[in-house]
Amino acid sequence: MAGAPGRRGHCDWVAWLAPRAAAVIAIGTCATWGGIPAARGNVTGAMGLDAFLGKDFRSRTGLPIVNVPGCAPNGDAFVELLSYVLLHLGGLVPLDLDELNRPRWLYTTSTPLRPARVPNQSWAEGVESAECSVPVRGWINHIGGCALVGGACNGCTRPDFPDRTLPVIAPQTARTVAGAGGDNQARRLHPV
Ligand code: SF4
Repeated sequence: MAGAPGRRGHCDWVAWLAPRAAAVIAIGTCATWGGIPAARGNVTGAMGLDAFLGKDFRSRTGLPIVNVPGCAPNGDAFVELLSYVLLHLGGLVPLDLDELNRPRWLYTTSTPLRPARVPNQSWAEGVESAECSVPVRGWINHIGGCALVGGACNGCTRPDFPDRTLPVIAPQTARTVAGAGGDNQARRLHPV
């Protein structure tokens, strides 16, 4: 390919390929807004496509980055989105994106942020909910999913995840989990 980056790094490939692509889809919160690899204190320079390509980025067909955040996002909803993008590029359906360039129909169900194992910790102070398709669709084919099985919601689809909703480097109060050794006693982790 003329002008292709050759043996340089994947960042060079993304910068070269993205403006030439009909559509650029960021799958998962790491790809959209950086997620845990880009959490406060990271030393890697990790970032999402939004930061790397810029908010004004448009693909060859004029589309912004289509963001599908989630850690991880629902599998069959993502395949559905791919179909929609292809149909949209063929001029057959509209592609309805919200203000965060997420496919609107996949991010309308609101789920309250809820820590599971640390009920007294205000890790999501001031943050009330997140939108995702997991409460309706589960992880895949209506099976599993944090919000469907009584698990925590740490707002993984939000641009401020994890720094605001689940700070990775914030001091932790003592956390406990069920012991793995058979007596099922609580085992203390990370005491401070
Ligand atoms: S319920 Fe919360 S933690 Fe689970 S996928 Fe949705 S936003 Fe992420």
